[in-house]
Amino acid sequence: MITEKFTPMQCAIIQRDLNVLWHPCTQMKDHEHTLPLIPIKRGEGIWLEDFDGNRYLDAVSSWWVNLFGHANPRINAALKNQLDTLEHVIMAGYTHEPGLELAERLVALTEGGLDRCFYADNGSAGVEVALKMSFHYWLNLGKTRKTKFLTISNGYHGETLGALAVGNVTLYKDTYQPLLMETLVAPSPDCFYRETGESWDDYAARQFQALEEILEQQADEISAIIIEPLVQCAGGMRMYPPSYLRLLRDACDRYDVHLIADEIAVGFGRTGTMFACEQADICPDFLCLSKGLTGGYLPLCAVLTHDTIYRAFYDDYSQLNGFMHSHSYTGNPLACRAALATLDIFKTDNVIENNRVLAQEMAQATAHLQDHPHVAEVRQTGMILAIEMVQDKAQRIEYPWQERRGVRVYNYALSQGALLRPLGNVVYFMPPYVITPEQIQTLAQIATEGIEQATAG
Ligand SMILES: *Cc1c(COP(=O)(O)O)cnc(C)c1O
Repeated sequence: MITEKFTPMQCAIIQRDLNVLWHPCTQMKDHEHTLPLIPIKRGEGIWLEDFDGNRYLDAVSSWWVNLFGHANPRINAALKNQLDTLEHVIMAGYTHEPGLELAERLVALTEGGLDRCFYADNGSAGVEVALKMSFHYWLNLGKTRKTKFLTISNGYHGETLGALAVGNVTLYKDTYQPLLMETLVAPSPDCFYRETGESWDDYAARQFQALEEILEQQADEISAIIIEPLVQCAGGMRMYPPSYLRLLRDACDRYDVHLIADEIAVGFGRTGTMFACEQADICPDFLCLSKGLTGGYLPLCAVLTHDTIYRAFYDDYSQLNGFMHSHSYTGNPLACRAALATLDIFKTDNVIENNRVLAQEMAQATAHLQDHPHVAEVRQTGMILAIEMVQDKAQRIEYPWQERRGVRVYNYALSQGALLRPLGNVVYFMPPYVITPEQIQTLAQIATEGIEQATAG
């Protein structure tokens, strides 16, 4: 294991950490043997560097947040400047330049679709905002029966209790089931399960039928449908076509149900367009943006909605119709400034266009894995590429989860200087957009060798 190579200094840091810290999404015992804990001293561009000077290529953008590299000079400069001007101010009753400008620019990016921006301070909190606003909207209209949310199986929307309730990745959810509000679940359009020869569009349309039936029977009790547009990321980078989103938008209109697009992971160019919803040419009623929003610098979430929703809350104070939701760090100026610097880079560097070349490169560099006897599928949507390992390719039999094949890939990649962190048996690339074609080749090489090792025996 890589820790064997660590110097005493690095080992001392690890020991201090294990004495006091409790890490996210981790069985802490794993850090004693199975998974090394890696202290990171600094980051630069695509690289993370530990205290011994080992470098790791950040192929997962530090949990999907980083867009333009670590210690990006432009975002750094903007933040330093903001730091000397205003670090934070209460946003109830006060406003500030970065918060205001960011709202204006996000609204402009939706090209007339959405016109209000509410800030929360992380993705899960933003999902809670969208759920509460949707419910509260109907309440303000006197529709008191619309109290339920409809979700898609294998979706993920965060870990706070409301967000967890509308997601359904079992690993995160099952334990807490007794604490969660009940939600309605429709089958996912996840095209991994389409029949041989069936097109993505046909499969998605077929899966849509069940959702339509739920709406038909219960729309008067449903406040909103929440979905991750195009890619179910935490659910294993499972993908489906834009046509499903069009069916969904149309159904939401027909049945008077809100559409919440959770683009927390897929927004900001991940799927090949600025927002995934663009590919379906639809506009949701709520758009949740976080992760890449600040270029991976600071936690922030923007929930965008349209004027019809806003106006249902706008009234005399005595009517008690306002949206009484807040977070201490709502609209933090530093986070907003990082987001503005990030949007500047999109504008000046032709990012979406340039990413097409990188996406092509990722496809070519991994194409050979389609034929690997233990790879069920190599799938891609824009800058997200996933390789699904299976025990039996012909019958698509999964490896038992206890074997933790993905962990083997993780450890191999680490030994080769790459941070690849598979989701179960799904190895994926979701790199910062500053990755070079050569680095993509290297990454593909490491992933191929890692998968070779992980699936041997
Ligand atoms: C990460 C994620 C969230 C939760 O965001 P946090 O900032 O981690 O709370 C919600 N929805 C999706 C689709 C995500 O990928």
